[in-house]
Amino acid sequence: MNAVRQTQGSIICPSCGKLIDVDEPRCPYCGQWRPGMFGYAGLFQRAAALFDPTWFITWYSILLYLIALALDPRSALSAGHGLFGLLAPSGRALFMLGMTYGGSLSDGHWYTMFSATFLHGGLLHIGFNLLWIRSIGPMVEDGFGRARTFVIFMAAAVGGFLASNLLGGAPTVGASGGIFGLLAASIVYGRSRGGHFGEAVTRQALMWAGLLLLLGFMGSRTNNLAHLGGLAVGYLVARLFVLRAERREGLGLTILAFALAFVSVAAVVLSLIGNVPYFLRH
Ligand SMILES: [Zn+2]
Repeated sequence: MNAVRQTQGSIICPSCGKLIDVDEPRCPYCGQWRPGMFGYAGLFQRAAALFDPTWFITWYSILLYLIALALDPRSALSAGHGLFGLLAPSGRALFMLGMTYGGSLSDGHWYTMFSATFLHGGLLHIGFNLLWIRSIGPMVEDGFGRARTFVIFMAAAVGGFLASNLLGGAPTVGASGGIFGLLAASIVYGRSRGGHFGEAVTRQALMWAGLLLLLGFMGSRTNNLAHLGGLAVGYLVARLFVLRAERREGLGLTILAFALAFVSVAAVVLSLIGNVPYFLRH
């Protein structure tokens, strides 16, 4: 049997999970069009089962951080910028890889709102952000499912940058908008679940969000607009999802999560291609 493409026999519908014939034009149970995905449903489901948002965010961020350091090693190793300047990629390297800024929309660089989420300005910045994602991410995955978790994270991250680009404008990088989105999702999840456990989840997430916001307002280089935007968008998307959280993640949601991951990688490639001429000249 061909391991990649299956054109005969029965498959599990990628939307509702029931056993159906691969040739079915429409799933008789849930109405999904072309549930066999022209023979590729099995391949798609194996890929979907492997997709882990916490893993993707962690390792994609680390990879881009190492590339950013390598693009400008002298600047990355120069001391004298305090603790937050420890192993900090240069502004030029971050710009190359897709740092976002106020003019990014009018310049047609909308994709930087995706790439900038996975870029970080120093060892402490990436260290703390990944620590947060690795402690909140798995809990949100349990409550909402993996695809929904990634959609919440990305919507909050892009929403946060949209707020900071339109209302602020300073060049910015970092996953904190998405982290605030995950915190908002924890608040929504705890409240919908109720009981002692739900109340404890909500209380803890509220406390963390409040503490992080406060720390942000105390710091001088924090993108507070991205934090507030991420919190608001994360809350709205999580509210949209909460009614469906008990249901399995359908085909559309899984494709959306894959598309967002693809755009996040393509965004860095687009930034690199667009900035290479500038990089060579300076
Ligand atoms: Zn179905």
